[in-house]
Amino acid sequence: MSAQRETGRATGHRVVVLGAGYAGMSAAVQLAARVKRREAMRVIVVNARERFTERMRLHMTATGRRLAELSIPELLEGTGVQFVRGWVTSVDTDAKTVRIDDDRVLPYDTLVYGLGSVAGTSAVPGAEDHAYTLSSAQDAELLADRLGRLGSGTVVVCGSGLTGIESAAEIAERHPELNVVLLGRAEPGAAMNRRATAYVQAALDRLGVQVRAGAEVVKVRPDAVELAGGESVAADAVLWASGTRVSPLAAAAGLAVDEHGRILTDAALRSVSHPEVYAIGDAAAIRQGYGVMHGTCQGGMPTGVHAALSIDRVLRGKQPKPFRFGYYHTPVSLGRGDAVVQFTRPDDSPRRICLTGGMAVRYKETVTASPWPAYARMKKMPASGAFWPRGGRFTRLREAQ
Ligand SMILES: Cc1cc2nc3c(=O)[nH]c(=O)nc-3n(C[C@H](O)[C@H](O)[C@H](O)COP(=O)(O)OP(=O)(O)OC[C@H]3O[C@@H](n4cnc5c(N)ncnc54)[C@H](O)[C@@H]3O)c2cc1C
Repeated sequence: MSAQRETGRATGHRVVVLGAGYAGMSAAVQLAARVKRREAMRVIVVNARERFTERMRLHMTATGRRLAELSIPELLEGTGVQFVRGWVTSVDTDAKTVRIDDDRVLPYDTLVYGLGSVAGTSAVPGAEDHAYTLSSAQDAELLADRLGRLGSGTVVVCGSGLTGIESAAEIAERHPELNVVLLGRAEPGAAMNRRATAYVQAALDRLGVQVRAGAEVVKVRPDAVELAGGESVAADAVLWASGTRVSPLAAAAGLAVDEHGRILTDAALRSVSHPEVYAIGDAAAIRQGYGVMHGTCQGGMPTGVHAALSIDRVLRGKQPKPFRFGYYHTPVSLGRGDAVVQFTRPDDSPRRICLTGGMAVRYKETVTASPWPAYARMKKMPASGAFWPRGGRFTRLREAQ
């Protein structure tokens, strides 16, 4: 099929936002709300699906729970943002175009790159072919289907980080007929304070999850997981919940990226190699005083808002402000009836305070449900999206300011 150039209106600065996840939605809505009276600007958002993926709930999808139908085009109604459904296949930074589904070409003046991340299945042989993931809603639904049909057997969850913990707990609670094994290098909850770590481990124990810390997975086979040292753990289903990786599109486009393929940004969230490209969310390598931010929704949404504010300022001839963000919590579900919330310092190290049990469940649900109403609020009150902890001395970066 020959390439078709989508020209649209001939005038106006085009901002194309790639990815309508937590970060991309924040950028698109914030930008539209800030500039809606200026006809000189056109905002276009491109996403694989019309339905918003609540990635923070994909472990629930994986156990067959139905999530709310959140329509991105419906939320964008009245904002002036144009929604384009499609799969971004390449970015041409010289021509300043984006190719969608291989056959459509979308020009941009400013690009906001928010394509997120997926499960890090390239880490060991066999994971890509034989393991299930929570990379997308469809992937989580595939696992739900498999678990629903198993009847008995063993599910191995690889990765004892937060996604692994939440997934193992959810599966064990929803499928008591299955053995759930959680494999990982570290003890589950090891990054939390002693009380929270103990709480996580007791909850996993109560749910019957077999935890094996100190395990190095070296290969995933169709019926087992191989560990360093030669041991095999038999598995009827394997969930890969260890690490993340980003799309190779940014590196292929010639954007400067870090060793993980994330776009390197300056303090205003512009690509260091292509200042007309802003990078946000999991796809960006954003340096703060404490180091490079790791992918979370709590940090991803502010990056989207800040990119929008930076674009608005630059187009008005002003200097963009440096982005600063400090972490404040780590909420972890332990099935539907239990949770733990570890409060953190801005550099994500654990504070002494944590919530457990019913209070933590309500806190976690409030946090998980908050992005969608936050976008709706931002449409009318853009400033409502601009509140997040700046991190004080933890986020000061002298050379960037
Ligand atoms: C089970 C689970 C639980 C989590 N819990 C928490 C939590 O409690 N708190 C927290 O802060 N974080 C949590 N996270 C992490 C959080 O979900 C991510 O950090 C967050 O989703 C990143 O937002 P994003 O907008 O960068 O990317 P995403 O939310 O992944 O959005 C990227 C969007 O881009 C689209 N896309 C990707 N590639 C293309 C393409 N080529 N073409 C078109 N569209 C494309 C995707 O479909 C998606 O809509 C959790 C993650 C998982 C998996």
